[in-house]
Amino acid sequence: MTKANRHDLMPEEYDHELGYLFKPGPKTWKQRRRIRLFLKQDGKCFYCGEDMNPHWDGHDPKSWTIDHVIPRDRNPPCVGENYVASCKGCNETKGRLTAEEYLEAS
Ligand SMILES: [Zn+2]
Repeated sequence: MTKANRHDLMPEEYDHELGYLFKPGPKTWKQRRRIRLFLKQDGKCFYCGEDMNPHWDGHDPKSWTIDHVIPRDRNPPCVGENYVASCKGCNETKGRLTAEEYLEAS
């Protein structure tokens, strides 16, 4: 599948081609939010801008994760804007920094 036609499809239609988060079947609002984030960023990491792996693989630093712009233990606002899709590598490097702190430091 090319990137161009990803957006033309509903999530359910490419579920089985793109990793476990995209499997067909009923989804919780959390799963839908994750899928929307991934698509909104065109499958690219919020921080390094590289393509993320939609199939979760704990050994692949490019596996995608959901990152909290303001970390959970630092009084984040409970709103959608506090979430971005980021590759596992960036998420781990960022750690407890806020997105702003991380981008300034790198
Ligand atoms: Zn990244």
